Parts: sequence; structure tokens; C-alpha cells
Amino acid sequence: MKNQSIIVIGAGFAGLSAGIYAQMNGYQSQIFEMHNLPGGLCTAWKRKGYTIDGCVHWLVGTSPQSEMYHYWEEVGVMPGLKIVNPEEFMRYETSDGRTLILYSDVDRLEKHLLDFSPQDAKPIQQFIQGIRLCMKFDQPSPSDPWLTRLGKKMKLGWLYVAKGKAFHEMMKISTYEFTQVFKDPILRDAFQEMWLPEFSIFFILFTFGFLHKKNAGYPIGGSMPLSQAMAQRYLDLGGIIHYQSRVNKILVENNQAVGIKLEDGSQPTADRVISAADGYSTIFKMLDGKYVDDEIKERYEKWPRFPALLYIGLGVNRLFPDEPQSVSGLSFPLRQPTEIGDAVQSRLSVHLFNQDPTLAPAGKTSLVVMMPSNYQYWKDLSSDPAAYQAKKEQIGQTIVHLLNQRFPGISQDVEMVDVATPLTFERYTGNWQGSFEGWLITPQNTMTVLKPTLQTLSGLQNFYMCGQWIEPGGGLPSAVMSARRLIQTICKEDKEEFHATVK
Ligand SMILES: Cc1cc2nc3c(=O)[nH]c(=O)nc-3n(C[C@H](O)[C@H](O)[C@H](O)COP(=O)(O)OP(=O)(O)OC[C@H]3O[C@@H](n4cnc5c(N)ncnc54)[C@H](O)[C@@H]3O)c2cc1C
Repeated sequence: MKNQSIIVIGAGFAGLSAGIYAQMNGYQSQIFEMHNLPGGLCTAWKRKGYTIDGCVHWLVGTSPQSEMYHYWEEVGVMPGLKIVNPEEFMRYETSDGRTLILYSDVDRLEKHLLDFSPQDAKPIQQFIQGIRLCMKFDQPSPSDPWLTRLGKKMKLGWLYVAKGKAFHEMMKISTYEFTQVFKDPILRDAFQEMWLPEFSIFFILFTFGFLHKKNAGYPIGGSMPLSQAMAQRYLDLGGIIHYQSRVNKILVENNQAVGIKLEDGSQPTADRVISAADGYSTIFKMLDGKYVDDEIKERYEKWPRFPALLYIGLGVNRLFPDEPQSVSGLSFPLRQPTEIGDAVQSRLSVHLFNQDPTLAPAGKTSLVVMMPSNYQYWKDLSSDPAAYQAKKEQIGQTIVHLLNQRFPGISQDVEMVDVATPLTFERYTGNWQGSFEGWLITPQNTMTVLKPTLQTLSGLQNFYMCGQWIEPGGGLPSAVMSARRLIQTICKEDKEEFHATVK
């Protein structure tokens, strides 16, 4: 069965990984990517000597002891990366001068939260216990010696028996529900800003577990080097990437996928087709909505998505030695609520890339201000290109002005402002209505994280999907893992053993 051909749509992390694992297992794969770069959402762009990083804040799997580290080695991202582990996840400043710091170290976090709000000792302890519990659910790394792996697996099995119920209970609680028990409104607001109210609290607990174990560091150089390393790994394994090749249709004969139709009209064929592109375009456009069942309807009609974003990159001619290095940056209150695009904001969240000097010329810093924004607002505005452009410029000026409130005089030092809207994300990556990470993990769909579905579509043979529209929660690791799992499935169909090698 080997030497069969596979077409992969999309050269994001999922598509590149699908290609990498396909090549490792003897399949002849080709990737068709509409952009002229690899990486999809894991990207960056240059403006006036600054790099605006469009993605990575934290990369789960940076600890060599973790299972994910091994997969990063397989896809060519590790070793060789310089990782920093910021001491803070995020800072939340208030108008009365208090600062809530969400430390990466769980002991420090516990102490700070208890000092910050002694009246909330009980829910804080529950939160911290939850993090400590999640830290124990540590999958063995495939590179561990077999005895260590066996020991870890036995420990995990025991943990599932002993703590499985508590674990499943946590999955059912949303961030909003969890935060309602806090008496201090700052804690409530900060936790909800940190993620989103619908998010399962379980995800936040894991986040802090990873941070504590230094398993979610920031890779110096940011997103683009990661994407380039994976693309190179794929090419080294004999794969072919066709850039600027937008796929319009998936060709189907007798309910079997046989190839794709590109925008230029050409129709390459293959034994199998994998879409690692946006889920909505794949199912409803490339396949004309012909294979839609109840599960797909449920997802696309009801599941909440990560929002679309307004993403403002700034280049500033100053350093920020007194500001902490952080995963997500700091959120500060505005003196007055201010209209920014489609919404009135009372706070601004700014990420100083002061941990990564490679993103700016010497002595300067790259900054990002990011906030959810309504896709339809921008879609409507884009019917008048001049108005769309003017709004972007106005937003840029407003942000610079507002940053002065937190960093006095900064507007004098701003050398570059770049405003990306939900339409920018849609145009460059195809993601449905500009969503930046696919489906949210909610109490209703957490089981799908553990057991992903929709890898295949019912009624359609030789067609597969992987990436962030398969597994709620999205993210770079799950893009890789969903592709790895998919190639395992394909090997199983062909009754072949799955192989993966480290570079
Ligand atoms: C601002 C931001 C911050 C983030 N921060 C993090 C983080 O810190 N850590 C983390 O793990 N994750 C983060 N993510 C999420 C992460 O980037 C995504 O979940 C992940 O990259 C998704 O990978 P993917 O391959 O599934 O999809 P995508 O990256 O969307 O890849 C899909 C690919 O398909 C291509 N494509 C689409 N349609 C077509 C077509 N018709 N024909 C040909 N090609 C097509 C696209 O151009 C794209 O290259 C962040 C994302 C954003 C936007």
C-alpha cells in the first residue's frame, strides 16, 4: 500500500505535520497552500525594520521531559530553539493602583492571590489544587526509557482511578461560573479577561500547570522560524509545497475524493485528500456542503469560536527594562471608556516583546495590542475601501494616544503602527470569519478534546481533515498532534505500522 499519493490542503502547522508524517511513512505527498509562506496562523510580518509576531506567546512542549517536546523534535522544530520562560503569565492593573500578577510559578501564584484577596482564600485554594492536580497528568515522553514510560503510565492509570471524577467535574465548569465565587471583582474580571467567559476552567488549570513546569516557554525569534523549520523538515523528507495555489474544490467521484481543483483551473489527483485548511471553507465550499451531518451542523451552528481580532503592531524606539517579561502582557485601565473600531473599551491589553530582542532593531521594542473585534463590522466597512483604510488609521492613532496613559511620552517614540483586522486574518489564512484559533473549549465539548471527531466525513471516502477545526482549543501542539493521529489512522487503514523519526 505504500507509495500511495496524498494531497494536503494548507501549509499551516497541521498541513505541514500531515505532510511530514505522511513522508515518514512512505506516502508521496504534496501540499497546496494559497499563501506564499508556510505556517498559516503561525506567522509574522515585517514593517520598518520591526517584526510583528502574529502568533506565538507560548509553545506547549518546550520542556525536554514532556511528550510534546518529542513531537516537536519529529517535526523539526526542536532542538535548536532558544526558549525563555517568563515569570509572569499576565498582569492586571486596576484604577485604584492594585496589580494582580498571575505568576507562572504556582507557589508564588498561590501566595500572591492569597495576599491580594484573603477573603477569597477558599476558591483560590481550589484553583491552586486544580493546577497541582493537572500537573500530575503528565504523559510519558516517547523518548523516555521503556521502564520510565511504564512507571509513568501506571502512575497515570492510578491517577485516573483516584482523581478521574474530580478531573471530569472541573471540565464541566466554565471560567465564568468558576469566577462567580470570587468576592473580589478584580479576580473575576482578570480571570475572564485572561481567557474568555465560556472557556472551560480545566484549560486554564492546565495552562498554569504547563507554565509552572517550564513546559510552555516562548521561542526566541517568534513564530516565523518555527514555521520555516517545519517547512524545511517536510522538504528534506521529499515533500513538495505548491505556494500561491488556492484550492477551490475537492474533486469527488462516486463519493470518493480523487483530487482538487485549483483556482487556476488545474486538477491534480491523488489517492487521498487531506484538508488542513479552514473547516468551514472545506465542508461548505470545497465540498459544497454535501457531506453535512447533525454533528457538523451542531458545531457550525452552536459551538462558540475564538473571536476575530484587531491586532495592532507597534515599533517603539525605547526599551522596557523595568517592565516584567510576560507570556500575555499587561492589561491596564483607560482613564475613560474609548471607542476602538466596533466596541467601546475600558481597558487595553499590551504585549511588550521585551523578552525577544530579535523582533526589533537594537535599543527598540516590538509591541502588540490585541482585542476581540466583530467580523461583520469590518466586512460591512470593507465595501468602502477608503472608509476601511481610514478606520484602521484612526485606530492606530487612538492606540498610540491611549498607550501614553500607561507609558508617558511613548507616542514620541512610536516609529511604526500596523493595524490588522479580522479581514486580514481571513485573507491570509482563510479562517472562518477571522477566528484566530477555531472552537473554544467549553464544558459542552471538552470530551471532543480528549476524543476528537470529524477526522473523516460520513459518506465520503479517501477524504480526511486535521488541524484546529477538528479539536476544540486549537493551538500549535494540537495542530501537530491531530495530523500525527490522522497519519496513524491512514497507516492503520493500510495495515501498515506507523513510523516517526526524530531529525
Ligand atoms: C494572535 C494569535 C496568537 C496565538 N497564540 C498561540 C500561542 O501562543 N500558542 C499556540 O499554541 N497557538 C497560538 N495560536 C493559535 C495557533 O496559531 C493556531 O491554532 C494554529 O496555528 C492552527 O494551525 P492549523 O494548521 O490548524 O491552521 P492554520 O494555521 O489556519 O493553517 C491553515 C492553512 O491552510 C491554508 N489555506 C486555507 N484555505 C486554503 C485554500 N482554499 N487553498 C489552499 N490553502 C488554504 C491557509 O493559508 C493556512 O496556511 C495563536 C493564534 C493567533 C492568531
